[in-house]
Formats: sequence, structure tokens, C-alpha cells
Amino acid sequence: MKIEILTLFPEMFEALRASIIGRATSSGKLDIKIINIRDFSEDKHKKCDDTPFGGGAGMVMTPQPLASALKSIRGYKSARKIFMSPSGERLNQQMVTNLATEKHLIIVCGHYEGIDQRIIDLFNLEEISIGDYVLTGGEIPAMALVDSVSRYIGGVLGNNESLTEESFSSGMLEYPQYTKPREFMGVAVPEVLTSGDHKKIAEWRKARALEKTARVRPDLLNK
Ligand code: SAM
Repeated sequence: MKIEILTLFPEMFEALRASIIGRATSSGKLDIKIINIRDFSEDKHKKCDDTPFGGGAGMVMTPQPLASALKSIRGYKSARKIFMSPSGERLNQQMVTNLATEKHLIIVCGHYEGIDQRIIDLFNLEEISIGDYVLTGGEIPAMALVDSVSRYIGGVLGNNESLTEESFSSGMLEYPQYTKPREFMGVAVPEVLTSGDHKKIAEWRKARALEKTARVRPDLLNK
């Protein structure tokens, strides 16, 4: 999958070099390009923001640098174009799996008070939020989106079972996990997990998943 991320703060994406996503890009399973919006500003001081029409606090990202940055991307017209925005549709696992089927994603990160609405309208940007809270910029939301989508790209995760066994994939949250040692600070691992009885283990996990989902996210069970 090819992903272009448009940002005023490219240095924030250093984090994508680490761990599983870092390995997926080094091995060519993912092709992530970070584009600095400021490089496209025609302003002599490379300014990319201005005061909002109609007044109000803060600054708005101006349309020219964003439009030029978007147009510089080969295949931008047919790519799925996303604007990370707190007023967008809230990201969930179903949207993640749907996005993972795309060949080419373009993600725009806002900053300050956001971007000029005409960019959203003219370039047909899909607005996606990562939750009902406001961050200072779209960079962390873009990384959350890229990370969650990348896990569904063939070969990115070593073990594809992780995708079917985890929270949300079955409509429930995941059961509690334990590893060695068998006893830690006086607390032993639930006996069933060391019994070797796979049927009982599966039943125990399902019951724990159900109990946790009912307690923490009853809305998932009502769906
Ligand atoms: N004025 C905007 C509003 O009230 O909706 C908030 C702008 S926010 C401070 C700056 C940028 O951060 C946004 O343009 C967006 O790109 C990003 N952002 C902030 N919270 C986000 C969220 N929950 N999901 C996705 N992007 C978010």
C-alpha cells in the first residue's frame, strides 16, 4: 500500500520508523511518504496559515500550499483522500479493515484551527476522527490510522491470528492475557490457562471477554 501524509511537522513521523511499521516500510510492504506542506507555499516567508474570515481565535491553514501539495502527488485524483479531523466520522475497526483494501491513501494533517473548508470540498477529502477529543494536530491521528490499517496488510504482522483473536474482531473486547512467570508478586496465573485443556481455555477466554465487554463497553454487545 502506498500512503502519502501531508503535514507541517514531518519530524513527528520519525515514530513510524520504529517497530512493526518500521520493518514493514523497510521491507517494502508499505510505502509511506511524508510531504512537508510548507515546501509548497508560494508565500515569500513560506507562511501556511492565516486568520479566519468572520473572526475567532487561532489560525487556519491556507488553501494554496495544501492544494499544490495534493496536486504534486501522482495519482492523487483516484487515491482515497482523508483529512484527520475531530468533526469527522469516528474511526472504528470496520473502517480500518475497509481502508486496508485500498492501494493508495493520502492523509492530510491539520494544525491550529484546521484547514480551509474549500480544500475539503474541492479535493473530496473524507473526514475521519480518532475520537471525541481534540488534539493539537492531525499527526498523531494520522499515525494511529496508518498503524491500525497497516496491521491488515499481508505480511505486516508475523501472526495473522492476532487479527482474528483481538478486541473488536469478534464484536467483543479481548480476554485477559498472561505470560511467564506462573506466579508474580503472589498472584498466580488462572489455573485453566496452564491446564493444557484447549476447550476449557477457549470457554474461559470467551466468558472473560464477555464479562469485560459487558462491564466496560456494553454498547458493543447491544449491536
Ligand atoms: N478547530 C477544530 C475543531 O474545533 O474541530 C480543532 C482543530 S485541532 C486543534 C487541529 C487539527 O488537529 C485538526 O485540524 C485535525 O487535523 C487534528 N485533530 C485534532 N483532534 C483530532 C481528532 N480527534 N481526530 C482527528 N484529527 C484531530
